[in-house]
Amino acid sequence: MARTRRPVVTRWFTDDTVPEEEFRLLGTRCTACASVFFPREDDRCRNPGCSGDGELAEVPLSPRGRVWSYTDGRYRPPAPYVSDPDAPWEPYTLVAVELAAEAMVVLGQAAPGVRPADLAVGTEVEVVPGVLNEDDLHTWTTWNWRPVARDEREERS
Ligand SMILES: [Zn+2]
Repeated sequence: MARTRRPVVTRWFTDDTVPEEEFRLLGTRCTACASVFFPREDDRCRNPGCSGDGELAEVPLSPRGRVWSYTDGRYRPPAPYVSDPDAPWEPYTLVAVELAAEAMVVLGQAAPGVRPADLAVGTEVEVVPGVLNEDDLHTWTTWNWRPVARDEREERS
C-alpha cells in the first residue's frame, strides 16, 4: 500500500502541489510593522512596539541562507523522538541557518548525506523538501537544508 505524504507540522512549508524547486518555508508577516514570524504566528503580532492594528499574512521565507551554526546528533534522542530502537542509529546533521532578509535563524536537519565536514559557518544553503519519518501508512515530510551546488554559489572574496 502506498504511504500518504503528510507534513510533520501543517502550514509551516509548501505542500506537495508545489514543484520541488519552489519549496519554501512559510511564515507570517505583520502588515502594520512588517515583522516576520517563523514558526508562523497567526493570532497577534509579537512585536511589543507594534501598533497592533495589522493583520498577519502568510509569506514564503527566503529559499537560501547562510550557515550560522551546525552540529550532529550522534546518539538516539529519547521519546517522544520517533525512531526504530532496533535499527542502527544514523547520525544526522543539524543546521542553524541565518536568513538575511528576515533577520532570523531557522533550525533544521541537513539533507541526507550532508555531514558537518561539508559545512562551515557562512556556507550558502537552500531549503529542500525532506522526510522526517515513515510508518506503514504515512511519510512524514519536513524541510532540510542542503549546501548550494558549488557552481551556483556567488563568488565572494
Ligand atoms: Zn506588528
